[in-house]
This record gives sequence, C-alpha cells and structure tokens, in this order.
Amino acid sequence: MATPHPALFLSRVERRYIQGDATLEILRGADLAVWPGEIVALIAPSGTGKSTLLHTAGLLERPDGGEVYVASQPTVALDDGGRTRLRRLEIGFVYQFHHLLADFSAQENVVLPQLIRGLPRREAERRAGELLSFLGLGERLHHRPAELSGGEQQRVAIARAVANAPRVLLADEPTGNLDPKTADHVFSTLIALVRASRLAAVIATHNLDLAARMDRCVTIRDGIIVPLD
Ligand code: ADP
Ligand code: MG
Repeated sequence: MATPHPALFLSRVERRYIQGDATLEILRGADLAVWPGEIVALIAPSGTGKSTLLHTAGLLERPDGGEVYVASQPTVALDDGGRTRLRRLEIGFVYQFHHLLADFSAQENVVLPQLIRGLPRREAERRAGELLSFLGLGERLHHRPAELSGGEQQRVAIARAVANAPRVLLADEPTGNLDPKTADHVFSTLIALVRASRLAAVIATHNLDLAARMDRCVTIRDGIIVPLD
C-alpha cells in the first residue's frame, strides 16, 4: 500500500514584511500537516498571521523560507503559472466576505470556476446543482447573491470553493460576518462537506464553540504553529 501523505504540508515556513525601517517577522518556521478528511481550526489573536498563513498555504503568497507541499508537490520553485494551475486544481478558498459575482445566479457562480478549468457546461451545471443541494440550497439555484441571506451567500461561496473538487479547503474567518445561529448552521454544512469529500481543511476562526467541533485546534505563537488545548 502507498504511504499516506498529507494533502497540505507546511515545512519551516517563514514570512516577513518590510514596513519602513522595520521587518515584521510573521512566520518564523511554521510547520503544519493536514490530512485528507481532517479539519484544523486556526485560532489566534488578530495580527498574529492567520491570513498570512492561509495565503501562503493557498499559494497566493510565496514564503520567504521553507516549503509548502500541496498534494505532496513542493511549490516554492514553481513559476507563477505552475502555482496558479495547482491552486485552481487543488485549493479552495473561502473568505469572510462572500465575493460572489453579483450579476450571476448561485448556480452560475459555482459553474464558472469549472468552465475556467475546462469542464463542459452541462457537467459543471450538474455538479453545481448537486453541491448546492448538499449545502441546502437546492431551492436557491437561480437566486442572485443579493436575493440570498448572509448564511446562504456563504454556503454558495463554499460550494464555489470546492467546485473543482480540490484536496485542500482554506477558510479565513468564514462565519465572521454572521450571527451565531447562522454561523453554526454554515459550519455544520461545511463540516459535513469536508467529511463527505475527504478534503483537508484549515479554518481560521474566533469562534471557540465552533472550533471545538473540529478535529484539532492550533494557534500561532512567536511565528510558529502550536497545538491549542
Ligand atoms: P491575522 O489574519 O491573524 O489578523 P495577518 O496575517 O493579516 O494577521 O497579518 C499579520 C501581521 O502582518 C499584521 O501585523 C499585519 O499588519 C502584517 N501584514 C500583513 N500583510 C502585510 C503586508 N502585505 N505588508 C506589511 N505588513 C503586512
Ligand atoms: Mg486575517
């Protein structure tokens, strides 16, 4: 049997920002392995580097040191085109704001990334319908974002993030804008989706009740990732 590999593996990741005369050392050798089907909660105070970590893991930013493996593939040496292709295939992102396209329906918002990847429209529409139904939006396929509630918009954003069946899902405070009850519901559907599709997920959140429902919790301390008990 093949040795199992983490879907996402950060090894000694460093990230710093130059700010005038000062250098901000945000990540100083952060390690994190996330396995298929595993949900990791990332809980740390504002400004400690959660978004930096997610952007680096999601190949949106290049680390200043260390390596990011996505589906066992090292990514630091890839050129921008290679990083973009890998990101499109293997990584889904959910932000605090839904960033859905206002002029398109829920279904079209989930269809578009699949068309960009080259899937036939009919197949993309079928998958979009299935995903949105799984997330409880079967009756909302043709609504535009403005015709949806905040929780519904976030569920469409989740469906869009996983439209191309990535191995890794990264979410940056995905329920930060929602009331507690809606946040709880969005989280439940997110967790069910991660389990059903064996995604590896990292979710930055401030909500400790929701974090307790994930497989493990980590934080960022002095630029490295440590378990949070
Ligand atoms: P968090 O998501 O945990 O709130 P961030 O990762 O957004 O934290 O930011 C961590 C720190 O890095 C903050 O102090 C922030 O000001 C700084 N920072 C983030 N991005 C940049 C950037 N592009 N240039 C300079 N500083 C940045
Ligand atoms: Mg942030």
